[in-house]
Amino acid sequence: MAISEALLQKYARLIVRTGANVQPGQVVQLTVSVEQHAFAAMLAEECYRAGAKKVNVDWSSDAVSRLHYLYADEDVLSRVLPWEEEKMKQMAQDLPCRIFIASEDPDAMNGVDVQKLSSVSRSRRRVMKPYRDAIDGKHQWVIAAYPGVKWAKKCFPDLNDDEAVDRLWEAVLSTVRVSEDNDPVQAWKEHTDFIEKKAAWLNAQGFASMRFKSANGTDFSVELIPGAKWEGAGAVNSLNGAFYIPNMPTEEIFTSPMAGKCEGTLVAVKPLSWNSQLIEDFSITFENGKAISCRAAKGQELLEKMIHMDECAGMLGEVALVPKESPVNRCGFLFYETLFDENACCHCALGAGFKEVLPGGDDLSVEEAKEKGVNDSIIHVDFMVGASDLAIDGVRPDGSTVPVFRNGTWA
Ligand code: ZN
Repeated sequence: MAISEALLQKYARLIVRTGANVQPGQVVQLTVSVEQHAFAAMLAEECYRAGAKKVNVDWSSDAVSRLHYLYADEDVLSRVLPWEEEKMKQMAQDLPCRIFIASEDPDAMNGVDVQKLSSVSRSRRRVMKPYRDAIDGKHQWVIAAYPGVKWAKKCFPDLNDDEAVDRLWEAVLSTVRVSEDNDPVQAWKEHTDFIEKKAAWLNAQGFASMRFKSANGTDFSVELIPGAKWEGAGAVNSLNGAFYIPNMPTEEIFTSPMAGKCEGTLVAVKPLSWNSQLIEDFSITFENGKAISCRAAKGQELLEKMIHMDECAGMLGEVALVPKESPVNRCGFLFYETLFDENACCHCALGAGFKEVLPGGDDLSVEEAKEKGVNDSIIHVDFMVGASDLAIDGVRPDGSTVPVFRNGTWA
């Protein structure tokens, strides 16, 4: 493989030091594919160098997960075993830093029943929820990527395995600001400072709603939740004050809009990969906050199915601002991985919102957050609307407007 050991080391260090920001004495829980065992060892060593007390590894395998879903019964998969619950209890005690390495084959779950997938994850989530809630906001975590062969071949089907992986590495490293001759830690400091400054500006504006318009037919307005924050880049562990970056890369500043309060049409500017299938050249029209119709040149049925996955799947859970100069956008291809694709340009998401954007949101239940306007659904699907001429206006409570985006970037 063409990527040098030195560059990999730099990347591993960035994930551990800037992403998870592992503190001396902390336990680290690393989730990584068996195929990336060498990188796992590199990360583990970086964690120990940062002072980690212990690094635990959860090994995953796309191929085996797929077999579970093809062969095992839904109720068997849905059941959380006592030892799994014990493990979560331990996690709620240790509050480990969590590092997730994404390298999946985007087609891994091809042919698996979508309903089975989501109902298994829903059942498991119900049992795991108290533990998730217990660690929420009290530990650092990060998701970063490591190009696997199948993933790379999905992005570059015409290249051979090695070439495809090299191309994907090149792209991944450019989006996470790692190069031979830079200091990525410093590059990330500048990047997160910029995003935080923009988020602070948006929060100071106190917009009541946002209007989106572009020549492709996007003509849309959405109400915001009074007091809900625009967030981006980093987060802070409320227990120890450690600043961490949950997603690498990250370019977006996002909020959850008022569920059920939007009107108009959003036209997608990039294909959407959902459950290993593509939806292309599509638009969604909203009335009274709900998707009432959609059109797609390809994948119309799938899009309709998505919108009707449950009662609230046709409502928005996220609005996110990403300037068109994003390094992900500059790569110019579809990654088939939300971690990257949602950082290409401005987007909205159908389905669940984020309660943490509400004041004191970490301590609210999903039901309480819903009452305040944060949507809840089994889906959360981002779709890109950041046309190169996209104009976004913020509307103040008194009706006056402020330009936020012009020509697809900050005004
Ligand atoms: Zn997003």
